[in-house]
Amino acid sequence: MTDPRRQLPAVDALLGEPDIAGLVGTHPRSLVVRAVRETIEAARADGGTVPAEGWVAAVRARVERLAAPSLEPVINGTGVVLHTNLGRALLPAVAVAAMTRVASGYSTLEYDIGRGARGSRHAHCRGLLRELTGVEDALVVNNAAGALLLALSALARGGEAVVSRGELVEIGGSFRIPDILARSGATLVEVGTTNRTHLDDYAQAVTLSTRVLLKVHRSNFRVTGFTAEVGAPELARLAKASSAASLYDLGSGLLVDLSPWGLAGEPTVHDAVASGADLVVFSGDKLLGGPQAGILLGTRAAIAACRTDPLARAVRADKFTLAALEATLALYRDPDGARREIPVLRMLTEDIEEIRRRGEALKKAVPAPAQAELAPGTSEVGGGSFPEVQLQTWLVTLNPRSLAPGPLVERLRLGRPPVIARITGDRVTLDARTILPDQVDTAARAVAAALHG
Ligand SMILES: *Cc1c(COP(=O)(O)O)cnc(C)c1O
Repeated sequence: MTDPRRQLPAVDALLGEPDIAGLVGTHPRSLVVRAVRETIEAARADGGTVPAEGWVAAVRARVERLAAPSLEPVINGTGVVLHTNLGRALLPAVAVAAMTRVASGYSTLEYDIGRGARGSRHAHCRGLLRELTGVEDALVVNNAAGALLLALSALARGGEAVVSRGELVEIGGSFRIPDILARSGATLVEVGTTNRTHLDDYAQAVTLSTRVLLKVHRSNFRVTGFTAEVGAPELARLAKASSAASLYDLGSGLLVDLSPWGLAGEPTVHDAVASGADLVVFSGDKLLGGPQAGILLGTRAAIAACRTDPLARAVRADKFTLAALEATLALYRDPDGARREIPVLRMLTEDIEEIRRRGEALKKAVPAPAQAELAPGTSEVGGGSFPEVQLQTWLVTLNPRSLAPGPLVERLRLGRPPVIARITGDRVTLDARTILPDQVDTAARAVAAALHG
């Protein structure tokens, strides 16, 4: 018997098939050729088996897969509001509009209209950040990890940075404070223990080489029991008395007090600034609810040192970030408006009845065999913010008899658009908190397709 792999069609033969040749009208020829090659290769790897759906359908499906963007929108049914894997903060409409405005035309990115001369990109969000927080100066860079690297390089390079052992944290995705410190050119001096560090530990570690006393907010976990840590104000005072700078990595940039909505325990940007730290660093796309960015607030001298450090160029923010951040920050001039218009804040403070109504609408729109029910549950803030807070929410639970939870979440994930669900016990759950009002119908259709697919 001949090897079935020898019977496979040649690339040119398949390209000559009218239905495959027709794909070249709607797709670049190079893409169709690649799809044909890969389809034949896949058949060869499969021992020479002709695709069950036929060559034309197999090539067309592969062309479509190759043509589809890899970065695409999903429906977040997990209830995790700041989901780092799903893109963290959703931007307010005004921020999207601001990005679009500068995207397709020229802009004043580094141009001073008044003087008709070269300007600085660092000018853009500076005034707003000073106005909103009362700091002397501010700088925006690419993300908070970059901001911390820049701050340590500018303030502590060649000298020592003192950190509590309880704050040598990993933030996730290979971001560890000791590694960042090493790369900044500063020498790490660890003080205290994992659970307890006292002001005296810092004081005894200070030498003539000490440049920075670093405080890192333990974003994504809590230490409980027999614990002690030194607050940012005490650390800032000790730094001043020791002719060192104090640097506070706050993590999330919470600009409004959310304790009336049951979200307490996370320090706000105002708390951090009031501590007297020379520099405060935080993210733009966590609780602030803006674009990915690293924001540095601080004294004139500390910000000037950061701005002139060679790393500032390496971690600089792009025009889309600056446009979106400026528009987001402007919303904070009216805190109530900010809560309504910034999706992260709106989702975190949304009335539970509103969430129930959206869950009810989704449940009703899901077709019959899904055994959909509405059940109370909890959502998480995510993004390493408020790690212990559980927000009351409503979940649409799916429990079809014909499909186990594992295969159902997979079908939801692989659908168009992808719906990211959770498995809770023996049920697939969709948290109405993170499903946007205008996504309810689409989500219901995606569930229907997954059930019948
Ligand atoms: C999230 C976080 C960072 C990193 O922020 P990115 O903007 O993601 O780079 C740094 N420090 C702390 C304490 C954080 O929580």
